[in-house]
Amino acid sequence: MRALRLLAWKSEPELVEVDEPTPGPGQVVIRVGAAGACHSDLHLMHDFEAGAVPWNPPFTLGHENAGWVHALGSGVTGLEVGQPVAVYGPWGCGTCARCQLGIDTYCENPAGAPVPGGGGGLGLDGGMAEYLLVPAARHVVPLPEGLDPVQAAPLTDAGLTPYHAVRRSWGKLPPGSTALVIGVGGLGHVGVQILKATTAARVIAVDTKDEALALAREYGADLTLRSGEQAVAEIRAATPGGRGADVVLDFVGVDATLRMGAASARTVGDLTIVGIGGGTLPVSYFSVPYEVSIQTTYWGSRPELVEVLDLGARGLVRPKTTTFGLDEAVDVYRRLQAGEVAGRAVIVP
Ligand SMILES: [Zn+2]
Ligand SMILES: [Zn+2]
Repeated sequence: MRALRLLAWKSEPELVEVDEPTPGPGQVVIRVGAAGACHSDLHLMHDFEAGAVPWNPPFTLGHENAGWVHALGSGVTGLEVGQPVAVYGPWGCGTCARCQLGIDTYCENPAGAPVPGGGGGLGLDGGMAEYLLVPAARHVVPLPEGLDPVQAAPLTDAGLTPYHAVRRSWGKLPPGSTALVIGVGGLGHVGVQILKATTAARVIAVDTKDEALALAREYGADLTLRSGEQAVAEIRAATPGGRGADVVLDFVGVDATLRMGAASARTVGDLTIVGIGGGTLPVSYFSVPYEVSIQTTYWGSRPELVEVLDLGARGLVRPKTTTFGLDEAVDVYRRLQAGEVAGRAVIVP
């Protein structure tokens, strides 16, 4: 079968021929219906080097996958060949306290996982191929009625990651509150939808590009603003009494956006860094409003994936997708790098 593989750090992936996988005991092979092209893959290709993560190329890219059950390993029950499914992407050990809760992202026994701190497309073979081997059946989540694999694939990361970030701050988003979304790209535009679908907060979206702001408005943002020096004053002016945003979700994560986010936050608010831009924010007694909690998040939990798939099936959260063939995938990543992809690019093998 054909597979888009990262063969070495600091290189572009290549479309190569590999053997079709066969499932061992407890494993499942998925016929891939769609695999999302994630901005984080660009960091894998261009920024990472040996030692940055506890795994290395070669492996097939694609950590945002959905399709149909193709083959079941011995002992797998509750799934049927041909059934449409999504794949929960972070693959932990399955037995530690975090994995028992479905929080494989923060597996505390990485040595017991199929690959430490990774998953399909992240150290192990991912979904940018005709078939995907899932090492444990618990990662295979049946799709609810009304959701096809092309819609479901981006929900497993571009949906799940902002969902987790929004959900953990639900308590700070009652009616009357304000949420600020910084960066309306592959994740941010879904973040806007999730905020609108699951909270009554007023949503302000900030980006450098007009198309991104139009996308945010299309999905229900109450106010969109161009980022820049003036943005903080505009954000504060748009909140009652100039108090600022109760929850700031930074989907970019560079110095400038972190600075803007901190300056725009309301006291006792949350500033959540979702984007892996690698920026830093000086934190001192005087540098952020009182009791603002600053945190990073990574992906989301398996129970949250079930919830986000439900939002997708009901049409409440629908990532904007453009589909491409596997032979276009290398070029798709180049366009992603150049900022030329609106919403999420999805590879249909
Ligand atoms: Zn991703
Ligand atoms: Zn674990």
